[in-house]
Amino acid sequence: MIGLGSIGKGTLPLIERHFDFDASRFTVIDPVDTDAKLVTDKGYRFEKVGLTPLLTEGEGQGFVVNLSVDTSSLDLMKLCRKLGVLYIDTVVEPWLGFYFNENASAAERTNYALRETVRKERKRKPGGTTAVSCCGANPGMVSWFVKQALVDVAAECGLEFDVPESRKGWAKLMKKAGVKGIHIAERDTQRSKEPKPMDAFWNTWSVEGFLSEGFQPAELGWGTHEKWKPKNAKSHKKGCDAAIYLEQPGASTRVRTWCPTPGAQYGFLVTHNEAISIADYFTVKDGKKVKYRPTCHYAYHPANVAVLSLHETFGSAGKIQQKLHVLDESEIQDGADELGVLLYGHDKNAYWYGSQLTIEETRELAPFQNATGLQVTSAVIAGMVWALENPEAGIVETDDMDFKRCLEIQKPYLSPVKGYFTNWTPLDDRPGFFKEDLDTSDTKRQMK
Ligand code: NAD
Repeated sequence: MIGLGSIGKGTLPLIERHFDFDASRFTVIDPVDTDAKLVTDKGYRFEKVGLTPLLTEGEGQGFVVNLSVDTSSLDLMKLCRKLGVLYIDTVVEPWLGFYFNENASAAERTNYALRETVRKERKRKPGGTTAVSCCGANPGMVSWFVKQALVDVAAECGLEFDVPESRKGWAKLMKKAGVKGIHIAERDTQRSKEPKPMDAFWNTWSVEGFLSEGFQPAELGWGTHEKWKPKNAKSHKKGCDAAIYLEQPGASTRVRTWCPTPGAQYGFLVTHNEAISIADYFTVKDGKKVKYRPTCHYAYHPANVAVLSLHETFGSAGKIQQKLHVLDESEIQDGADELGVLLYGHDKNAYWYGSQLTIEETRELAPFQNATGLQVTSAVIAGMVWALENPEAGIVETDDMDFKRCLEIQKPYLSPVKGYFTNWTPLDDRPGFFKEDLDTSDTKRQMK
């Protein structure tokens, strides 16, 4: 296992719970050894060593579970596939330096660009040993939610359909259901016991990870129904062409969205791999011509301490705080991570489907993690099971995997997982004191 940060620490006990393995051959590598005792006390190895000998020594097939920051997913994936070793990660992570490279253009710093490197490798070397790309909560689990949500929406809208078995079939069903777009709509209500001090960035998962993606340009899968774009929206010259980016940081770009507990809320349009992969996966084409594509983007309301942290970061023109801290389960008083997908634009207006995992349930279910962490680590476990069951599937994204099987493994860690229809649109409940130039023709719902 690579990386012993918040997600690595949480995944370890779940790996122990779900898999039989030879403990003497289990090794964790991480350049920081603060938590090494957690690993060595259990009789596992903790090392700062080169990877290849660890993967090839002894018998059987190796498995790299990459939960680190600043290590290239693509390079690790390539190495693993060359050695016939299974591989999984939770983001397309670049080597150190990518996210804050002042000489790179905005387009070069996008997740679109990172994802294209993996797509290129998949094209160059189709098939072969399985490498699962981007299998955390989001990106990851939410792609499985989208399929379940689409089946629910299609049924509720009274469509006649079979559950699709191919990418084309899924894309056609989404078009038929009239889904215009998807928010990955999240509200993290986990409250810290202590108030956040000044000059510290607090979050419920990797602060480094969040800052990296927060400083990337805002990005969204760009749907065929869209009639308007912000002035600073740009498209890419090469690749799948499923997404655009805005010339502004995602973590200071607010969008309106909806989650079951708060109802209407602001979310940050932080770039994520799934915004692009989902839009790409559900594209219907006629030859080269795109006939249908949903808009897709993340709309993330992080924990209040993280919202406050971001406010400070961007308020000081991007100066990152001295202290970066991930809240562990003992530092959280209460709250839940409400993480789901909001499919909108169809005859039933909008449907949110997702996990509403509380910190209390998380403590019962698995050690060393908060609710955000468990949604990620349980997706890693589901992805590992799927990879072991499908060891020659080549490079895959979670959109390509069997959503039913993966959710079957993961769901016991996500409770409750529920769906909610809502009449909400972003045109609702505007304050009303100021005139706005709103296009009310783009919703099927009768507006007031
Ligand atoms: P973290 O910052 O708590 O931990 C990252 C760990 O990686 C640290 O222990 C660090 O020392 C280690 N590391 C740094 N350089 C390394 C190297 N060269 N080799 C090995 N280890 C190295 O982060 P986290 O919250 O555990 O997140 C880990 C990864 O998971 C990040 O890439 C993050 O973006 C991703 N993530 C994905 C999701 C998702 O839902 N898809 C959610 C949360 C986190």
